[in-house]
Amino acid sequence: MNQTANNAWSNWSGSVIARNAKVTRPRGLAELADTIKTAPGPIRIAGAGHSFTPLVETEGTILDLDRFQGLVSHDAIELRATVGAATRLGDLTKQLHAIGQGLPNMGDIDKQSIGGALGTATHGSGPTLGAYHTQLRKIEIVDGRGEVRRYDVETDRETIEATGVTLGAFGALTEVTLQNVATYRLRRRRWVVPIGDILSGFESFMNGHRSAEFYFIPFSGHALLITSHPSTADVTPRPSEQDEEGLSTLKRLRTWLGWFPPLRRTLIGAALARLPEEDYVQDWLHVYASDRRRKFNEMEYHLPFEEGPKALAEIIALSEKRFPEVYFPMEVRSVAADDFWLSPFYRRKTCSIAIHHDAAEDPRAFMSAAETIFRRYGGRPHWGKMHNLTAADLAALYPRWKDAMEVRREFDPDQRFVSPYLARLFGLFA
Ligand SMILES: Cc1cc2nc3c(=O)[nH]c(=O)nc-3n(C[C@H](O)[C@H](O)[C@H](O)COP(=O)(O)OP(=O)(O)OC[C@H]3O[C@@H](n4cnc5c(N)ncnc54)[C@H](O)[C@@H]3O)c2cc1C
Repeated sequence: MNQTANNAWSNWSGSVIARNAKVTRPRGLAELADTIKTAPGPIRIAGAGHSFTPLVETEGTILDLDRFQGLVSHDAIELRATVGAATRLGDLTKQLHAIGQGLPNMGDIDKQSIGGALGTATHGSGPTLGAYHTQLRKIEIVDGRGEVRRYDVETDRETIEATGVTLGAFGALTEVTLQNVATYRLRRRRWVVPIGDILSGFESFMNGHRSAEFYFIPFSGHALLITSHPSTADVTPRPSEQDEEGLSTLKRLRTWLGWFPPLRRTLIGAALARLPEEDYVQDWLHVYASDRRRKFNEMEYHLPFEEGPKALAEIIALSEKRFPEVYFPMEVRSVAADDFWLSPFYRRKTCSIAIHHDAAEDPRAFMSAAETIFRRYGGRPHWGKMHNLTAADLAALYPRWKDAMEVRREFDPDQRFVSPYLARLFGLFA
């Protein structure tokens, strides 16, 4: 669990602290059900605390489900695995690989719990690859009255689509069954191009690979492109990560030359030109995730796919004209459409744009200016990353919002899981 020096619960970046919450770790289903019925509310469920929004914050009780971890069972023919909902992705990848299975895709890191990843529609990149919740086949969930409910996509597709992006608002997930693929190997390549090339060739680049993404480096005029494809070639060494070192350099140049963009641009451009191309083959579990040590805060909006390049060009102009303090790269990905009611990818192929801000500095001015642009393009916010939307905005962005809220009320009629933050999101009074 993430803790501050005073033993309070805190998220990864330190932007959310639950000072007065009581944290409990139920030992099994019966104790979990009892806690939900009797513990002081509001009750919030913690995963690994890697969300930037205050989804876990409460003055009541935080449920730490760390005891609900690990592989429960698997089906080697159907390539399905049932796992404890608190299983960390980094453990899950090893457990799946050992039984010949693989996750079809992953995001940037593997520190989250699978329950937490489902909680916010966590995703990777790929025009035909869905977010984690699209792998759901069965769930076991303890609702707001402490009742254990089990659903299977074969017989209860609607319920799984209504509750699969959970926000921790329908109950505590204890087990999930995921549809996986056979374990596989990936060839990953990384190279640098001028940003103008990728803005004009956006659709063919993003659509032309199983998985493609890019990072725009502020004040460089360039982007780092990354692609990965299945491969049967022999494994080659994964180059050591230079991201942290690169960020230190970008921060130093920002601090020294923040108000001299031409010089900053020249020096970053020279450093990027020296960056060697990357090209290696590894088993999937050693490719997707990176080690992110430098703390940041993040906003990510999910836009209609074709709006991506226009929105990105505006965000770049905004940061370079008005926010020279920004030095973290901006990340651009694509995600396949799905049918989950609270999914930001609901029936919409998506271009996701993420902006980051040093965790030691105030991100609000930059993020709210960027949010105005994202919203103009019809963006839906990542549930786990900073945004300022409330119920009326969200209802307009999600065609099945009202239906999802009805299902939520049925799962939690006494509003045990409704904190003041969730009340704001859902338009309720906690
Ligand atoms: C460095 C970093 C990199 C990231 N990279 C990506 C990325 O590449 N792609 C992406 O999409 N996101 C990314 N994120 C965001 C992150 O994946 C999400 O915020 C995710 O939800 C965090 O998972 P967690 O286990 O930490 O959950 P938490 O943040 O602890 O919880 C998230 C939500 O899930 C709920 N929840 C957790 N467990 C359960 C459960 N068992 N039952 C019911 N509800 C539950 C919580 O109540 C909460 O509402 C990143 C975040 C960081 C800090």
